[in-house]
Amino acid sequence: MGSIVLFGPPGAGKGTQAQRIMEHCGLPQVSTGDMLRAAIQAGSPVGMDAKAYMDRGALVPDEVILALIEERLKDDDAANGVMFDGFPRTIPQAEALSHLAEITHVLAIEVPDDRIVERICGRVTCGSCGTVFHDTFNPVPSDGCVCGSFVEKRRADDNESTVLSRLSAYHEQTSPLAAWYDERGLFHRVDGDRDIGEITADLLALLN
Ligand code: AMP
Repeated sequence: MGSIVLFGPPGAGKGTQAQRIMEHCGLPQVSTGDMLRAAIQAGSPVGMDAKAYMDRGALVPDEVILALIEERLKDDDAANGVMFDGFPRTIPQAEALSHLAEITHVLAIEVPDDRIVERICGRVTCGSCGTVFHDTFNPVPSDGCVCGSFVEKRRADDNESTVLSRLSAYHEQTSPLAAWYDERGLFHRVDGDRDIGEITADLLALLN
């Protein structure tokens, strides 16, 4: 089994879908955004460098991201492939990745720009288990998170001004990857502006 790339703009639901399909395909989720946030929290030099880029909604330099990925892919749980979430985001990242892992599917979750801002601005995560909710579209159940110990966590970059920068970084630097992967016969599109379960079903159908 090779690796999967979950592709799409910020707020498309890549993390949500990664969690939902992880158990079906048995591949660990590798989110460069989560790795960077962990590095910031740990106060590591990588985190300190990355924070300035993330706070303004810009991409972190390729060499920083690729160093993180190379290390992560050495872990035992990555031996049979992984599910990349938020990586690659530039053509040089995709080129480097092609030497590090075999990609079998690039699954693009498509959401129009005008839906992204409202989706990102209401986003809330359970700090205990990582489940992603949304104030309006997917509220935390009244009896709490499925894990039983809901701790509210909101991302520092989930605000209106940063979202617009993240969207332009996506259109300028990341969206050219669609054609790049399409030329290699790996690219599949799913309408991401629907019920979460319908999107999961479409993604699983593409993987089977
Ligand atoms: P995400 O959690 O995927 O939305 O990523 C949050 C932020 O981390 C992005 O806005 C970027 O600043 C940075 N980031 C995450 N993944 C990458 C990547 N593959 N390349 C460059 N920057 C990244």
